[in-house]
Amino acid sequence: MTEQHDVVVIGAGLVGLSVAYHLAKRGIRDVVVLEREAAHAQGSSGRSAGGVRLEFSHPSSVRFSQYGLHVLEHFEDEFGISPQFRACGYLFVTSDPSQWVALQESAVMQRDLGVAVETLAAADIRGSFAYINLPDLVGGIYGPRDGVGDPASVAYGYIRRARQLGVEVRFHVNVEGITASAGRVTGVRTASGLISTSTVVNAAGPQARAIGQMAGVDIPVHPYRRSIYVTGPFDGLPENLPMTLNLDNTSYIRREGRSILLGMSDPDEPSSELVETDPAALEKIIATILPWIPSLEHATIMRGWAGLYEISPDQSAIIGPTDDLAGFYCANGFSGHGFMHAPATGRVIAELIAGEPPFVDITPFYLSRFAHQQTARENLVI
Ligand SMILES: Cc1cc2nc3c(=O)[nH]c(=O)nc-3n(C[C@H](O)[C@H](O)[C@H](O)COP(=O)(O)OP(=O)(O)OC[C@H]3O[C@@H](n4cnc5c(N)ncnc54)[C@H](O)[C@@H]3O)c2cc1C
Repeated sequence: MTEQHDVVVIGAGLVGLSVAYHLAKRGIRDVVVLEREAAHAQGSSGRSAGGVRLEFSHPSSVRFSQYGLHVLEHFEDEFGISPQFRACGYLFVTSDPSQWVALQESAVMQRDLGVAVETLAAADIRGSFAYINLPDLVGGIYGPRDGVGDPASVAYGYIRRARQLGVEVRFHVNVEGITASAGRVTGVRTASGLISTSTVVNAAGPQARAIGQMAGVDIPVHPYRRSIYVTGPFDGLPENLPMTLNLDNTSYIRREGRSILLGMSDPDEPSSELVETDPAALEKIIATILPWIPSLEHATIMRGWAGLYEISPDQSAIIGPTDDLAGFYCANGFSGHGFMHAPATGRVIAELIAGEPPFVDITPFYLSRFAHQQTARENLVI
């Protein structure tokens, strides 16, 4: 007899687990999550910098972040686990006058949505954040409620509650195919056989495109390696250092306990599934960060890791149903924001599957935007 479930979720990262939890919370409990690795959060979710910020240029992304932040601030009440959230703030700086204009324009929209974002002229930044050395600095924005959480704790919270609500999470199960009939999903094929279902959620992170191909759906998401390094204990920067991001060169720093975490989205990194650390990436990060954070010259490097951003063409997520295959849902392409947007994504996907209107307008995030030459372009990305 063929095994059958109401919903099959592919991928046990933050997004798949959030989807499964939200389905179960809505009473859709015959849900199985299939994960090829031996444990949950082994993909991008286990390699994230854990940043959460409200400042985006697309209003739906702002609303996704507002929900994500709210969830993290109340996570322990719902999940019984601390997400280790720390409201250190986010500071974006730029030396590019047109970027500075765009930041201020986006801040107007963000404030309309209730975000307490502050726009800071160069002199304000020099006064309050003296560790930054940018001779041509023109301005920046500061989000006081933003901060950093622990993706592993959040993923564990989701998987534990989802299981308590009846969801089954299976490891060592590689999805090999998706079956369909008359334009509708009928099942998911693995080495152990066919699972019959009318609803599949693609939450395969950097492998979203490959899962789409199995379903005959083109999902334009490509993986790019992103590297992170952590210094040894370092007191040459403020203890309350905000996540500080330089939009001129995509590098950023934040505190990681007594150490400093350094990261960068190298625009020269080609698309690949490589997750090994690369000595050249470390050299480039150091060469990029030292000129604008000179005090780090005295820091040592203790460890580092790399993971994959799953990037969409307009750097906004691809979320929702697909035109060509009924019952096949995308939760993909988070372009570096999937930790903070996983809570809202899980909720809107569950709402769609339950036949309820999503709490945020996600039509701009539908896959169909690419076929219709529309864009949900996100400008505030690192
Ligand atoms: C270095 C780095 C820093 C980041 N920093 C931030 C940040 O500060 N803030 C933020 O919000 N986001 C950040 N992100 C992005 C965030 O981590 C991701 O967007 C998010 O984790 C994506 O979650 P996911 O569940 O979609 O993907 P994943 O966690 O990758 O999960 C997908 C899962 O699908 C499984 N899978 C794939 N193919 C198959 C198959 N055929 N069969 C079965 N299972 C399959 C994989 O094994 C994987 O476990 C960062 C990412 C990186 C790499």
